[in-house]
Amino acid sequence: MTLPSRHALVPFVSVDNMMKLVLHIGIEPMMVELADAIEADFRRWPEFDKTPRVASHSDIGVIELMPTSDGQQYGFKYVNGHPSNTRQGLQTVTAFGVLADVATGYPVLLSEMTILTALRTAATSAMAAKWLAPRDARVMAMIGNGAQAEFQALAMKAVCGIEEVRLYDIDPSATRKCAANLAGRGLRVVSCTTAEDAILGAQIITTCTADKQYATILTDNLVGGGVHINAVGGDCPGKTELHRDILLRAGIFVEYPPQTRIEGEIQQLAPDHPVTELWQVITGQTQGRTDATQVTLFDSVGFAIEDFSALRHIHRRLQGTRFFQDLDMIADPDDPRDLFGMICRAEAPASVA
Ligand code: NAD
Repeated sequence: MTLPSRHALVPFVSVDNMMKLVLHIGIEPMMVELADAIEADFRRWPEFDKTPRVASHSDIGVIELMPTSDGQQYGFKYVNGHPSNTRQGLQTVTAFGVLADVATGYPVLLSEMTILTALRTAATSAMAAKWLAPRDARVMAMIGNGAQAEFQALAMKAVCGIEEVRLYDIDPSATRKCAANLAGRGLRVVSCTTAEDAILGAQIITTCTADKQYATILTDNLVGGGVHINAVGGDCPGKTELHRDILLRAGIFVEYPPQTRIEGEIQQLAPDHPVTELWQVITGQTQGRTDATQVTLFDSVGFAIEDFSALRHIHRRLQGTRFFQDLDMIADPDDPRDLFGMICRAEAPASVA
């Protein structure tokens, strides 16, 4: 099936179709493709409109809008973060997004993005680790074994060659779920009962927990030299995972500083504490890891360009598939000024008694 040529019909990727598309491509190949797509867009970072996301906070969560444009296309994501949701059987993070044509302003894609966010977050983590982690990294600790965890583990396997993942969660049932899902996928999976045990021998430490508070998932004494920390869960004001002392001795790499200063681990530091923008490492303008003993930290919060890359990639990958429906969501009368007349013409003729 080709994407609709009548510009008023908008291809829509439902959750069901996203799952079919991901299974059609393969989970790991999909994350490799997404990591490549995101990296390609990080290489042209200056071309994008950038703004910290627009956040609406409540006591128990946040709802955010994440827009960006490269001048040709515009994208935005609606995303929430509600750590207490899982207690009611709901997801912590859900999302959907739109890609639009800048020339006309017409949307060209509407997509579920709960699954796509998990895929793009993992792909971004793996892309960052590819540039920052020790070259011989084969073991990753995965602290927080919720919805994002399996994606993080498999992206690190597919992109960085991780062979062993060491799981820890304060809720053992999350670790059991994660271990069961990862079984038979080519990773050695070790379930641990403490964070300390999980990071034993790990060259990459991923923290991906959810709690709306300044949590201390990792203390300074736990983190040895030479590791790469992929801190995913601290992504809101008042919601962090690492002890400040770790930040003080780490080389810190971020997506978009104006957003990360508000939301990331570095909200614990002075506003002028030096950080490096990841895109500058990728384009060779700045050095990444300086030596084998350096602690590198990717202070991930999730930035709009990653969602834009993911939406564009999905749009490309839909071509020739049946994994979308045409949505009649843009009113587009034949005479563009006759919006009212279009409604009148749609009125059913009065039935003759
Ligand atoms: P989730 O609620 O499904 O899982 C979180 C897990 O963390 C749970 O299993 C919970 O038991 C565990 N946990 C909480 N406190 C812990 C602690 N002290 N030690 C160990 N485990 C602990 O959430 P999720 O969808 O997997 O998301 C995880 C985090 O990642 C959230 O905070 C979310 O906001 C964030 N996130 C960030 C990005 C990004 O781009 N940086 C993208 C998506 C999600």
